[in-house]
Amino acid sequence: MRARIVVMGGGIAGLSVALMLARRGFGVTVLERDQAPPADLADIVEWHRPGAPQTRQLHTFLGLFRQDLRTHLPDVYEDLLAHGVEEVSVATPTGTDGGDPELAVLAARRPVVEWALHRALCKEPAADMRYGTSVRRAEVREGRIRAVRVRDGSIDTDVLIDAAGRRSPFRDDFTGLEQDVDCGVVYNTRFFRLRDGVRRPPLTRGVTTMVAGDGFGAGLFYHDNRTFAIGIGRLPDDNELKALREPEGFDQVAALFAEFEPWLRPGASEVLTDVAPMAGLRNTLRRPTEDAPAGYFLLGDALCTTDPAFGRGASVALHQAVRLATAFAEQPDDLPGLAAEVNAGALAWVRPYFDDSVQSDVVRTRLWQAALAGQPLPQGAGVPPVNVFTLMDAGERDPVLWSAAQRCANLLAPLEELDTPENRERLRHLWSTGWRPAAATGPGHADLVDALAR
Ligand SMILES: Cc1cc2nc3c(=O)[nH]c(=O)nc-3n(C[C@H](O)[C@H](O)[C@H](O)COP(=O)(O)OP(=O)(O)OC[C@H]3O[C@@H](n4cnc5c(N)ncnc54)[C@H](O)[C@@H]3O)c2cc1C
Repeated sequence: MRARIVVMGGGIAGLSVALMLARRGFGVTVLERDQAPPADLADIVEWHRPGAPQTRQLHTFLGLFRQDLRTHLPDVYEDLLAHGVEEVSVATPTGTDGGDPELAVLAARRPVVEWALHRALCKEPAADMRYGTSVRRAEVREGRIRAVRVRDGSIDTDVLIDAAGRRSPFRDDFTGLEQDVDCGVVYNTRFFRLRDGVRRPPLTRGVTTMVAGDGFGAGLFYHDNRTFAIGIGRLPDDNELKALREPEGFDQVAALFAEFEPWLRPGASEVLTDVAPMAGLRNTLRRPTEDAPAGYFLLGDALCTTDPAFGRGASVALHQAVRLATAFAEQPDDLPGLAAEVNAGALAWVRPYFDDSVQSDVVRTRLWQAALAGQPLPQGAGVPPVNVFTLMDAGERDPVLWSAAQRCANLLAPLEELDTPENRERLRHLWSTGWRPAAATGPGHADLVDALAR
């Protein structure tokens, strides 16, 4: 008889892999240290998630996430749309439909997505969900996972899927760091809800409106049920902006942005949450150690974290869950024996996104540091380098570049499809016509410092 599969962690990765495995006939137990989500979506703001503090941060769910959800968990996709999640086209710069129908993203708060995944999993007879249950350690004999230990006993299993996120308890036992690089950014986020009758803020990049600053960045992210969040990113050692984590300072600063201010007035929205700071962010890639036991699988943030600036984490987690569930369904007879191959495949798939995130963080950190030091920006004077942000800017004039940028940004095309001879030539041509990337338009760093001092 097959032992049950144990999934450690009930975040995006854990819930989605458990759901797909249960539907393929596997017995699955999900062990989650936090409490279950509320039954009523209206209470979602109250859901306490100390095990996954990033759930209090703004999120966007990219094209790949939407595509995987529609394909592999269509009932969850429909449930989300039925509960206030909106689909926003990114096929054109203006957000109007037309062109590639795959190019759409989901406007949802992160806990709302988990709420829907949890609801679906509760209906699966093959799934057993245990909230408030921390996995403490794993029992390994003869090189194989045999059981996991929780507070009141142990659960036999020969398959342990580690979906416990960036702070997985097994990160030092069964995995080693392949690479670990500081993201160089601290985020502060606050959520709001539009009042009845107030129109949705204009969005310039899918579900977001981004504002580049001199030494900082800010964004408005639209979410489900007329909620939205403002996020402001700063350098970790920029102590002048530290007070952004205080509600009064945050609100003063957020109101400096012309793109955000009309929606922050008392008549336009109400505050939903405190300011949630998130520091210590790292791009981290792990690989199982040589002697990692058979039956140990890595998923989501437990395998790889990247700078949230690209909004890739949830898409990566769901896509890896799809790949893992497919591998199990294709070769169900020796699941523990699949671990080395499946883990290696997941690592190889995520590697280009990891590398891209590390490189982009280096560039952003240099730009922000130079801006704060009043030095010339280290980006050169000629045609800018090809990356997602440049091509999105240029894409407002050239639909081919827009589409290429969006397909790569939404993980619907590999990153190699960005820097092609054709795209470089199109960029050069635009440059020769006088086009230039959008310059920072918002308040300056000194304005933010002044607002915080008020
Ligand atoms: C500031 C910020 C903004 C972000 N914005 C975006 C975005 O816009 N779009 C996007 O796609 N991604 C974004 N991300 C990343 C995204 O949130 C993560 O990549 C995603 O949550 C990974 O899901 P996961 O299930 O692997 O891990 P998690 O969501 O961290 O889930 C892990 C789960 O394991 C549980 N757990 C931990 N230890 C144990 C244990 N010992 N026993 C049992 N359970 C345990 C935790 O409680 C948690 O529920 C952002 C991240 C941050 C920090």
